[in-house]
Amino acid sequence: MTENATTNRETLGFQTEVKQLLQLMIHSLYSNREIFLRELISNASDACDKLRFEGLHNAALFENYSDMAIRIGYDKTARTLTITDNGIGMSRDEVISNLGTIAKSGTREFFSRLSGDQQKDAHLIGQFGVGFYSAFIVADKVTVLTRRAGDNTDQGVRWESDGGGEFSIEMLDKAVRGTEITLHLRDDQDDLLDGYKLRDIVRKYSNHIVQPILMYKEEWKDGQQQVTDEEETVNQASALWARSKNEISDEQYREFYKHVGHDYDDPLAWTHARVEGRQEYTQLLYIPAHAPFDMWDRDARHGIKLYVRRVFIMDDAEQLMPQYLRFVRGVVDSSDLPLNVSREILQESKDIEAIRKGCTGKVLGLLADLAENDKEKYATFWSEFGKVLKEGIGEDSANKDKVAGLLRFASTHADTPDETVSLADYISRMKEGQEKIYYVTAETFNAAKNSPHLEVFRKKGIEVLLMSDRVDEWALSYLTEFDGRPLASVAKGGLDLGKLEDEAEKQAQEKEADEFKELTDRIKASLAERVKEVRVTHRLTDSPACLVADEHDLSGNLARMLKAAGQKAPASQPTLEINPQHPVVLRLKSEKKRFDDWAAVLFDQALLAEGGQLDDPAAFVKRINQLMLELGS
Ligand code: ADP
Ligand code: MG
Repeated sequence: MTENATTNRETLGFQTEVKQLLQLMIHSLYSNREIFLRELISNASDACDKLRFEGLHNAALFENYSDMAIRIGYDKTARTLTITDNGIGMSRDEVISNLGTIAKSGTREFFSRLSGDQQKDAHLIGQFGVGFYSAFIVADKVTVLTRRAGDNTDQGVRWESDGGGEFSIEMLDKAVRGTEITLHLRDDQDDLLDGYKLRDIVRKYSNHIVQPILMYKEEWKDGQQQVTDEEETVNQASALWARSKNEISDEQYREFYKHVGHDYDDPLAWTHARVEGRQEYTQLLYIPAHAPFDMWDRDARHGIKLYVRRVFIMDDAEQLMPQYLRFVRGVVDSSDLPLNVSREILQESKDIEAIRKGCTGKVLGLLADLAENDKEKYATFWSEFGKVLKEGIGEDSANKDKVAGLLRFASTHADTPDETVSLADYISRMKEGQEKIYYVTAETFNAAKNSPHLEVFRKKGIEVLLMSDRVDEWALSYLTEFDGRPLASVAKGGLDLGKLEDEAEKQAQEKEADEFKELTDRIKASLAERVKEVRVTHRLTDSPACLVADEHDLSGNLARMLKAAGQKAPASQPTLEINPQHPVVLRLKSEKKRFDDWAAVLFDQALLAEGGQLDDPAAFVKRINQLMLELGS
């Protein structure tokens, strides 16, 4: 920090990430340079909203003048653009932190993780909202003059930077509250100094802004600078969501989304409705096309803005949407809530509960509609947000069936993890006599797909759902049936194919169980407490053995997940099932000398095949080598 002796001017450095962001933005968003205006108008509008809201509790903030407007001026001689608002303004400390750092830690962290190539991707940049710094796309110097509303000393702050590594701060008198941002345009940006051009950009990106946006021109006349061509309001200046649907074009819906969603891309879908009844409110809710980078960050912003009778109340009204729909963005405008509603009140309010219920139903309805009528969009939605939606199975018992209907799974019916099926699809393909919906869980798609537990199902042509998301095990503990059909893990409990097996098969199996009784007893004695039980199975065709968990025990996959997460899992004791047709098993019947080694290898390979980890891999390798040598001799 350096202080100038004659003025109170100080020079401060930007946070490192800001410097990176500035560099990147100027280069990668150049072809989209017009968005700077949207960002600055959006900030001006937010500032007016904040003043209106804070003014509800403290009327002195209005300084006897509560009308709010945004003004855009251009000056061809000075080659500047000026965006002015009379909103909340900023104090000195706020200027330093808001315009010198990237405040949101998630954004910072995300940014530092991007590789050089990713940084050039405009989509990714859009994800964290380009914001104020986008001014430097078109300007090589930016001056901000601002004063916090209600500060009766008239002390304003002047911030200035050329977008390099530093900015300066100076205290100056400022009579009117709010913020004035002056952009000193880069050499090749003179086309922006034109009323038509600017009006076009404003209408394109900021038509929905609630405050009036006025335009004017500054000119030198008779040796004096004068304001000329002051215009009527350029934008529509009414709350978009309050207009009727047929007056709003898709383009306007999309632009509004970019403002409320802080997103640079178009939304995937939206729903707009006025709800009447016990609670009256308007909802305009959007599904984004991309997951935000901080979707898994518990403290991430939620996306719903709450208004009461058009007055902005708060951002991130997380009570209006359940956690599992936290990716939804948009606006809820209530006609009934009191204007002084606080977060604390929201938490307890029955009215809010009714609104949340309504919004949840709307979003689930919109998703069901997409799933039915626009498969391609739904596939995009699923790949971006599917994992989050699955949380709804456990979180929202009232809507469990609806959420379950929206789930998609990889399946033995398809070849790749991307070709997913719904539970309804599965049911439509169930075999004659099949009563259950079968699934397998594993750590990866390949482990699930190649699981030995699937062998008999493959042989009989029975479809099995392949689950490899971490959240699957948890979600499945809440989803025990769908449309009257129980869900059953193929890796749990004894194999019971019900009517899918005929009498002859069942009898043959009982006979084999007897024949192999001596062998299964010997293996159990050899493996001792590593297994709960050893038995003959018919679920295998190619593999010699597999492990299964008891119906009510944790599956091997879940036990491993808990362990990996550092949590205590009850010690699981699996059952070892052996394939009576397999040559290795048959050979074992007559094995004397190395029986213990064979039994141990059988167990270890069953564990490996389902994606487990060996307790003592070196011992396994040693045994295999010994057995190989003996077989060779
Ligand atoms: P975001 O709008 O997503 O928070 P920005 O980079 O656009 O990010 O703005 C950073 C912050 O600077 C805002 O959150 C706000 O606190 C402050 N700010 C920017 N412009 C204004 C303005 N015109 N009036 C008051 N505060 C502003
Ligand atoms: Mg902003």
